Amino acid sequence: MELSGRKALVLGAGKSGIASAKFLAERGATVALHDKKAVETWSQDARDLKASHTVGLIGGDLPGWLLDQIDLVVISPGVPKTTLPARYVDRKDGEVIGEVELAYRFLKGKIVGITGSNGKTTTTALIGEILKTSGLPTQVGGNIGTPLLDLVESSRDDGWTVVELSSFQLETIVDFRCDVALCLNVTPNHLDRYDSFFDYAAAKHRIFMNQRPEDTAILNADNSVTNEWPDGLRAKVIKFSVEKELEDGVFLSGRELVSSLGGERTVLTTRDEIFLRGLHNVENVLAAFAAAITCGVDIATIRKAVAEFKGVEHRIEFVEEIDGVRFYNDSKATSVDAATKALSALSEDAGKTILILGGRGKNAPYAPLIPLIRQQVRRVIVLGEDADNIESQLAGEADILKVASLEDAVAEGFSAAQTGDSVLLAPACASFDMFKSFEERGTKFKQAVHGLKARRHSAN
Ligand code: ADP
Repeated sequence: MELSGRKALVLGAGKSGIASAKFLAERGATVALHDKKAVETWSQDARDLKASHTVGLIGGDLPGWLLDQIDLVVISPGVPKTTLPARYVDRKDGEVIGEVELAYRFLKGKIVGITGSNGKTTTTALIGEILKTSGLPTQVGGNIGTPLLDLVESSRDDGWTVVELSSFQLETIVDFRCDVALCLNVTPNHLDRYDSFFDYAAAKHRIFMNQRPEDTAILNADNSVTNEWPDGLRAKVIKFSVEKELEDGVFLSGRELVSSLGGERTVLTTRDEIFLRGLHNVENVLAAFAAAITCGVDIATIRKAVAEFKGVEHRIEFVEEIDGVRFYNDSKATSVDAATKALSALSEDAGKTILILGGRGKNAPYAPLIPLIRQQVRRVIVLGEDADNIESQLAGEADILKVASLEDAVAEGFSAAQTGDSVLLAPACASFDMFKSFEERGTKFKQAVHGLKARRHSAN
C-alpha cells in the first residue's frame, strides 16, 4: 500500500488514532486527525502531533469541506463507522479502513488473532507467553494495549504477532487475515452500539472472513453462537469444550485437559497445574493450547508456560495473603456476570469470601449473585454510587456493611474474615464514580492491601 501523497483523515484522537496519524505522516501522507471533543481537551500526545508530524487537528463536528479533500479514512475502534456520512462511505474513490487493517498491510510474519465477548485479554496474554517461552519471535498487541501499528516496525518474517481484536476493530478490516483465529465466546454485550445481537455476532465472525484452507479457526463448542459456525468456515476448525468430550478437539475431562486432535488422546495438563482460577479460565487455557499447538509449540512447553502464567492484572489477581486471609483484585469485573464468575472461581476454596461490591451501577439486577452469596459469602461490603441500591437488592440475603472508601472496604473486609477466607474486590459496577478507570480502582485496592500488611507487620 502506497501512503506517500495520500490525503488521510484519522477519526478518533486516542491511542489508536495517534498511532495511525504518526504512521501515515511518517510515510508521506498528508494527515488530519479528528475527534468530536474540543482540541484543547485532547491528550498532550495527540496535540503534539501538529508540531512533530504536521498533522492537522480538528475538533468538534466533522467539517464537510474536509471530507471532500481526502481519499483515505482510518477509523479508531472507539469511533462508530456511522460517524462518517453515508455519502462518503459509499464513494468509490475513497477508502475507509481501521487501524488494524492499515497495520496488517505492513506487518511481517504470522498472526494469531483472538476475539470473543469475554476472556480476550487473558487468552491473548497467555498465548503470547507460551510462544515466547517456546523461543518463537513473538510480539503481543491490539486491543490489549500496544496498537498493532506500533508493532509493524519490529515485526519479522519468521515471527508471530498475537493480537487481541474487539468487535469494533473487526468491523473495519478488509483484507486482514489470521493464520490462527480464535473466537472464545459470543454473549450479549455492547448492545448500545449494535442494532442487534445478530450484528454484534456478525462483527465477531469477521475474524474468520479472509482465512484460507491452510489457516486454523478455533471455536468454543459450548457457546450456542460459535458452535453454529464451523460448517461455514474455509479454515481447518479446532473446537474446545469444558462441558463435553470432543472426538477431534481439546476438552476438559474430570480434572484433566485433554486433546483428541487427529484422533489421538493426549492429556495436556490438569486443573491443579493451572494457576488461574475458575472454569472460565480453563476455557481460555484450552483455547490457548489449541492455538499454540497450531503454531507448532510442543505440549511440554505449553504445559510449563500455562503453569507459570499468573494472569493479567485486575482479573481475579492474587494480591497478598495477610494472616491467612487472601486478597484478590478483580476490578475488571464491572458487570454482575463477571462478578459471578469471580465468586464461583473462589468457590472451590474451603474458606468463605468477603465480597466488595459497588461503584457506578449499570442498571442490571444484582439478583444473579444471590445463590453464590448464600453459599459462600461471609459478608458483603458495599461502596460507591450504587451502594444503597445493592444493599436494597440483597437485603435479607447477606450480612451487608456500607463503607465510604476502598481503604475502609479493605480494613473491614480483613476484620470480617477468618483464617482461610478470601477478600474479593469484584465490584459488578463501573469505576467512574470514584476512579478514572478500573485499572486505577484495582491499583488503589492493591495499595490499600499492601498498606494493611505493612501496618500489621509493624504492629507485630
Ligand atoms: P476481555 O479482554 O474479553 O474483556 P479479560 O481477559 O479481560 O477479557 O477478562 C475479563 C473478565 O471476563 C474476567 O474477569 C472474567 O470475569 C471474565 N472471563 C474471562 N475469561 C472468560 C471466558 N472464557 N468466558 C467467560 N468469561 C470470562
